[in-house]
Amino acid sequence: MSTTFTDSIIILKFGGTSVGDAKRIFAVADIVANSAIKNRVGVVVSAVSGVTNLLVSAMNEAKQGKEVNSFTDKIVKIHELIIKDMATSSPDLRFGETRKILRSRFEELRDLLEGVRLICECSLSVSDRILSYGERFSAAIVNCIFESMNINCRYIQAENYMITDENFGQANPDFSKISENFQNLKNESWDVLLCSGFYGASESGKITTLGRGGSDYSAAIIAAALDAQRLEIWSDVDGMYSADPRIVPDSFLISEMSYEEAMEMAFFGAKILHPRTLVPVVEKQIPTALRNTFNPSHAGTRIFNNAPESECVIRGITTLDSISLINLTGPGMQGVAGIAARMFGALARSQISIIFISQASSEYAISICISSSDATNAEKSLTLEFKSELESKKINKVEAQSNLAIISIIGDKMRSKKGVASIFFDSLASTDVNIIAIAQGSSERNISVVIANANQKKALKKTHEFFFRTRLNIDIFMVGTGSVGAKLIEQIKNQQKNLLNQKVDIRICGLANSKKMIFKNDGIDLSEWQKILSGSQNSYNLSGLLETILKERPINAVFIDCTGSLELAERYPDIFDAGLHISTPSKRANTLSQEYYFAIRKKANSTRRRFLYETNVGAGLPVIETIKNFVKSGDQLVQFEGILSGSLSYIFGRLSEGKKFSEALAEARDKQFTEPDPRDDLCGLDVARKLLILARETGEHLELSNIEVLPAWPIDFDASGNLESFMQKLPILDKYFELLISDAAKLNQEVRYIASIKNNKCKVGIEYFETNHPLAQIKNGENALSFTTRRYSPTPLVIRGYGAGPDVTAAGIFADILQTVHWNMDLSQ
Ligand code: ADP
Ligand code: ASP
Ligand code: MG
Repeated sequence: MSTTFTDSIIILKFGGTSVGDAKRIFAVADIVANSAIKNRVGVVVSAVSGVTNLLVSAMNEAKQGKEVNSFTDKIVKIHELIIKDMATSSPDLRFGETRKILRSRFEELRDLLEGVRLICECSLSVSDRILSYGERFSAAIVNCIFESMNINCRYIQAENYMITDENFGQANPDFSKISENFQNLKNESWDVLLCSGFYGASESGKITTLGRGGSDYSAAIIAAALDAQRLEIWSDVDGMYSADPRIVPDSFLISEMSYEEAMEMAFFGAKILHPRTLVPVVEKQIPTALRNTFNPSHAGTRIFNNAPESECVIRGITTLDSISLINLTGPGMQGVAGIAARMFGALARSQISIIFISQASSEYAISICISSSDATNAEKSLTLEFKSELESKKINKVEAQSNLAIISIIGDKMRSKKGVASIFFDSLASTDVNIIAIAQGSSERNISVVIANANQKKALKKTHEFFFRTRLNIDIFMVGTGSVGAKLIEQIKNQQKNLLNQKVDIRICGLANSKKMIFKNDGIDLSEWQKILSGSQNSYNLSGLLETILKERPINAVFIDCTGSLELAERYPDIFDAGLHISTPSKRANTLSQEYYFAIRKKANSTRRRFLYETNVGAGLPVIETIKNFVKSGDQLVQFEGILSGSLSYIFGRLSEGKKFSEALAEARDKQFTEPDPRDDLCGLDVARKLLILARETGEHLELSNIEVLPAWPIDFDASGNLESFMQKLPILDKYFELLISDAAKLNQEVRYIASIKNNKCKVGIEYFETNHPLAQIKNGENALSFTTRRYSPTPLVIRGYGAGPDVTAAGIFADILQTVHWNMDLSQ
């Protein structure tokens, strides 16, 4: 411990968690003792964490005439436990006197609260007095440790030094008096000067507080008053993060920042710093550090003049909730001087601080944001101020819009960069967040927008992702765990690590089959999804699934429909409304009415979600995207011919090679190319559905009933009955196909099952091709699609490849899913 007098003073402020228990208080004592080796140290302490909240609750209950013993008992217990723990681990500590002081303070607090309870009223002045007790208790305990460590400590009572006005709850310091008081103290001999944070007193001796979280401000005021060399704010995180780390797990520590940036971050919601903290230190250019009591060797965030520019175009993002917006509007406002001045004047007289201002150039509207707790008051004072204009209808009724939040991007570098706002707005739009009002400070280091409170978290996460791109999330909600679903889960599991290396974090957060469903915010363990799903207590129901998604509001969420369910296909608009993209191999939704086909797309557009169904035709082959592109670029389909069924491709390929139909069918079934009931393939309906989707993609308006569908079997064949009776009839089909193939061979032709669009007619059925025709060569389950368009003519555009099987289908869905992030990525380039 220093005995030599030094002029260098540093101020250390310890927050609630830093004095939260005995162990932490010992750590604080160590930090102070270390700092005191080279400097004189001013120590400012907050209340033990949770205590101020308990005081607020006790006071609110007492105001309603309710008993508050449970609260005061809890407060007493918290402090007694700390003392007991400290005494146990360090028997040398001399707690006798401290216990006495605390007990009498506890009694004072009980008496005050009892007074409030009896009269069911609590003035602002009494409220501040009550709230100040947390800091009084904690400082008394810390003082006891310093005394026991024989630190030369001067323990001062804030009410005698921290002089403020009487704006209770948000008092303003009287800097000159405070400075005088502390300058006098400077001349006294102490190594450590200990003071409670958060509260002070007016000149007439009334206790006042500096606003919630105000101990930071106390410390900064003292730092300025003592001309300190440095201010250190010790909390429970390593420093200021690029966004609130509780909401954005990917946020990162900012190691250096300017005063202005830190002030903006604090003012617009970074809770780590009380908004007014830096005002006194910036004037005297006192370097400030934000540090972590739980990690004292870490340098934390350093805040100083001319801090190096941030790498990214912004330094950080903040949100402020419980905001209300007031729009002053009316026909009588245009060109009238002084309306804004009167508005601000009225609010200032009611002690309401304005957080955000925006005015349209037409001068028809001035929008301001205030804290929701001031909303009623603001409405009253503005209604009074504009009484005559309201009566003559020059100004519209003044009403506060509540449940809003402000999200702000902050950084000095923004001043020299273009396009920052557009990235910000794109990020909000991409997650379907509506912007209610916009403001950019004239310093150009802040752009703030007003949004609904409910959108706060997803807006913050998305904006962080857009600007910092530490990781792109894809949260999957999947229904259907049949062969394609299961394959997709396996592919995702195998790729998760690789994608993470490319900064794409893909997780399955919800999984359901027809019986059960499970949810896990941070992703289901895919190595044992079957066990977890079958063991789930939650029975599957679509509404419950959507409700859960709505509650969680995941940011880049993709819904995967691996079922053939009609019920689910009919709910796609609700899924878009819940904020999810949809990817599906199911043809259900796209083959309902043309009206519904348009409705889903309209909904997807209005919610800015993507509807991805590349696997509807040709499984993993790039069919849908290709058609979309040629249509978008102005090309037109002239004719289409294609083999769209993997099972029929396989069967007809084998028939050409001389196999019997029954054998070819059995092989196709073995290879999982067919539906469980092969008649679903052979009847042609599935191919017709694919053709309907293709035709609609090319711009045709039609229904399934407009497609001529001829089954693979002869017209007079009776395919009814159960599967077994169908299988028994296979010899008839063997004969039929044998004849068909041999007749064709005589003419040098092959038989294939084809979907076609010719002369605006859509048709599905068997056709004959010369053996050298490209489609005659398709077999083995391959698909082939031949598009003759205005541009691709006379040689058609041909897409060919395996178009069936769980593996390629799952891969196609996977590619769809990845498009949802690349799409977002492109926006920020
Ligand atoms: P103390 O009690 O020490 O004053 P606070 O709880 O007031 O601490 O402030 C620290 C907390 O602020 C952190 O635990 C963190 O959850 C929250 N916080 C919010 N935004 C940020 C941010 N941008 N950077 C760091 N912490 C933040
Ligand atoms: N104890 C006060 C509060 O909780 C002040 C502070 O912690 O800074 O608001
Ligand atoms: Mg704080």
